[in-house]
Amino acid sequence: MYCAVCRKYPKLADLTSPLYKGTGGNGKYRIETLKSHNGSATHQKCVNRSQIDQGNGDEPLPKLLKSAINNIINTAFYIANENFSFQ
Ligand SMILES: [Zn+2]
Repeated sequence: MYCAVCRKYPKLADLTSPLYKGTGGNGKYRIETLKSHNGSATHQKCVNRSQIDQGNGDEPLPKLLKSAINNIINTAFYIANENFSFQ
């Protein structure tokens, strides 16, 4: 048993983690080990990266683009609504 998300991003993952290495034997882990891995910073980085790759993450650039587009639309609506475009 191993963590597929961490193995997908070896540059972000903790390479010494037992869940990164996996087990060759019976694959049994204590629940505390799984919870600890799930809460670890390196695993969360891998999960965030995975979500970004799947299009579910919050990327800084799209947030800025959404804000900029929202401002442009609001300005265009205000100009059209106040009939400033014909003055
Ligand atoms: Zn992991």
